[in-house]
Amino acid sequence: MADIQSIQWFPGHMAKTRRKITEDLKLVDIVAEIVDARIPRSSANPVLRDIVKSKPKFVILNKSDMADPEETAKWTEYYKKQGETAITIDSKNGKGIPKFYSTIREMLKERIAAFERKGMTGRPIHVMILGIPNVGKSSLINRLIMGKGTGKAEVQDRPGITRQNKWFRAQKGFELLDTPGVLWPKFEDPKVGEMLAYTGAVKDEILDLHTLSCGLLELLMRLYPDAVNTRYKTEIHPQDGLQGHEILEQIGRKRGMLISGGEIDLERAAINVLDEFRSCKLGRITLEKVT
Ligand code: GDP
Repeated sequence: MADIQSIQWFPGHMAKTRRKITEDLKLVDIVAEIVDARIPRSSANPVLRDIVKSKPKFVILNKSDMADPEETAKWTEYYKKQGETAITIDSKNGKGIPKFYSTIREMLKERIAAFERKGMTGRPIHVMILGIPNVGKSSLINRLIMGKGTGKAEVQDRPGITRQNKWFRAQKGFELLDTPGVLWPKFEDPKVGEMLAYTGAVKDEILDLHTLSCGLLELLMRLYPDAVNTRYKTEIHPQDGLQGHEILEQIGRKRGMLISGGEIDLERAAINVLDEFRSCKLGRITLEKVT
């Protein structure tokens, strides 16, 4: 799928996506907003609440296998307090998928009962899947269409529906509409860009890996110092107030990443830290807390 950086976020495109979503809301019963459970704030679209006013909406904290379960529970509670429903899914391994269906059935129970009263028992439930690039929309859709007896996954040429729309047939009684257009993150906030870069949602080539890994290490040292020390066999305390590059140097030294002259290969250490964080070698980590 497209990554965030390679997309041109022109105001014109954004307005078009907004218009398209608003238009297509008429075709669905409910909206599922997917966010990355490790960064629920930064991976959300800033104006979605505003766009999706006419339909029920719930949040999917995806990639929950990579996030800290305690923090994910706090996020779920947070959404509940805001009057929103949030569920936890791991699309990689298919965990939490049944909850997708049961939550929708519960949220739409009056509507479903009304259909049944009218004898429309076979009417599918239409779900719009929304989310910024890389949160796992395709992975989730693939999970949902892999269920039993789904037959042909992609629904073609439904009458009255434009061809650009991608519909997928999920478990009996559910049809999914992939995000119409490309949703943008809140990229005017530099912190959001950093969070997306740490998790790998932004292509690395355009970023300075050294700066990125130093930023990540400073954050990890504040949030999960034990995870860093255990992984790299360092003994750094958050109170030491070490800067990212100092932590990176210690890691490079511990790992024996040297270049000629005995200097530490910081570039290699930086790549290593980012790779290991993204592949959960430091454990399940949530970078954004509820606060
Ligand atoms: P999309 O751009 O929103 O459609 O995101 P993709 O479905 O293409 O997923 C982006 C990346 O995240 C891919 O490498 C997926 O394998 C990975 N991914 C998606 N969902 C999960 C998940 O729940 N857990 C883990 N560990 N990885 C996931």
